[in-house]
Amino acid sequence: MSNQKPRVRFAPSPTGQLHVGNARTALYNWLFAHHHGGDFLLRIEDTDVERSEIRYEDQLMEDLRWLGLNWTEGPEVGGPHGPYRQSERLDIYSQHTERLLDDGKAYRCFCTTAELDAERAQAIREHKPQIYSGKCRAIDAETSQRRAAAGEPSAIRLRIPDAPLRFHDMVRGEVEFASDTISDPILVRSSGVPVYNYVVTVDDALMKITHVIRGDDHISNTPKQVAIYQAFGWSVPQFAHLSTILGSDRERLSKRHGATSISSFREMGILPEALTNYLALLGWGAEDGKTETFTLDELTREFKLERVTSSPAIFDFDKLHWLNRHYLKLATPERILDLAWPYFAAKNLLPPRSNASDALLQWFGNLVALVLPSVDTLQQLPEKTSFVFARDTTTAQADPENAALLNTDSARRVLQAFALRVRAAATVTPEQFKLWMNEIKAETGIKGKDLFHPVRIALTGAHSGPEFDKLIPLIEEGSRLPLPTPIFSILQRVNRFQSSFDSSSVAEV
Ligand code: GLU
Repeated sequence: MSNQKPRVRFAPSPTGQLHVGNARTALYNWLFAHHHGGDFLLRIEDTDVERSEIRYEDQLMEDLRWLGLNWTEGPEVGGPHGPYRQSERLDIYSQHTERLLDDGKAYRCFCTTAELDAERAQAIREHKPQIYSGKCRAIDAETSQRRAAAGEPSAIRLRIPDAPLRFHDMVRGEVEFASDTISDPILVRSSGVPVYNYVVTVDDALMKITHVIRGDDHISNTPKQVAIYQAFGWSVPQFAHLSTILGSDRERLSKRHGATSISSFREMGILPEALTNYLALLGWGAEDGKTETFTLDELTREFKLERVTSSPAIFDFDKLHWLNRHYLKLATPERILDLAWPYFAAKNLLPPRSNASDALLQWFGNLVALVLPSVDTLQQLPEKTSFVFARDTTTAQADPENAALLNTDSARRVLQAFALRVRAAATVTPEQFKLWMNEIKAETGIKGKDLFHPVRIALTGAHSGPEFDKLIPLIEEGSRLPLPTPIFSILQRVNRFQSSFDSSSVAEV
């Protein structure tokens, strides 16, 4: 690489949610810039006024910031090459169009849609490439000027030179398109709206972009852009086209494969560092061929475009979950508590965070710490804590596996003996619990699974779960906390369970 400080940009169109493909493009640009001490710009490509929406623009900026991909030039931060929204640069494009027309590098095309359709139909009949014939190229400047001044609608087309269009791609090597496969591209539609290929080139040149790193869905646009650079006499940047991201069925990744937008991953409780780590691995791998966990700093040090592969990357949700579990383990308890809270509040299991007492914070922290190792995403936490929050004991009995464990004489004896003790004591401690279970074991001769499973089902609704030592204080302390959905104490659980258990066993006789 030359000594020139690289300048790269991420240039999304705010027409929808930021999804993994574009986020990876943003990340690779960001990493490339930071690895080489260069600049990372954000430019909003909102010339499609029908489809562009400010809410998408806001969302994508929020998503980028959440991922840690801050820009040093762009909307909200400004910079010397602004404005950074294409809708605010229309004058710049018009001035450049005038320049191309004056230099004879572009020409007005007066062909109507009907004429162009007829041309295309004929090309199909003759099995020729369906490209514009170049009919209006021959109109001399004076006539062209006169017709335009008389109000005849015209598009502006670039005069493509009659030579193959080549560029070097940093991921794919040499790419060449024969000029007869490319029509003279439209730069400005007859409506006056400049097209993507044109504005992107003008902007990249004026913003002094040195490397264009983007998705390979743009590879067929690149020769047209190269031709535009050449028409202006601008130096052509380096290009790198990133491979497509596929789902596990090797079809282009889409909503039907599951979540694909950055905000949906955030909502489900994927940590940003897990997502950036995962996105980095979608098409790039470490030098040592084995390390898979990288912080953004580590990625910045390691990332090299030369190691980006041109073969399609397959999105693997299991691997993303694996990385998320890795980063959940590394996160501080305070951060986890902050992030986990809203999932519980949304289900009315916790009050708004601002109303939380220290006792509640402490209790919730312990609860989350207990189940955190068993979740892939934070969204799964409420379900994993159902042993504390569950209020319906009858469903536990309906579950066939539970029913088989409960529907025995030994289970009934254990539960009766247990209920007797809980009712006498009212509250339960882990020490007390241990003593009681030993007593019941001695008294009934029932042990192991037959002894513990029925009690666990009665208390939690499931035959497996955390150790009783941890479980009991969480239930008892939880039941004393003022919660929007109160937690049943062990006594309440035993009473409710016994009454439904007794009536169901009676019904069976
Ligand atoms: N606005 C284009 C897109 O979102 C940008 C393409 C480019 O990077 O040149 O696909």
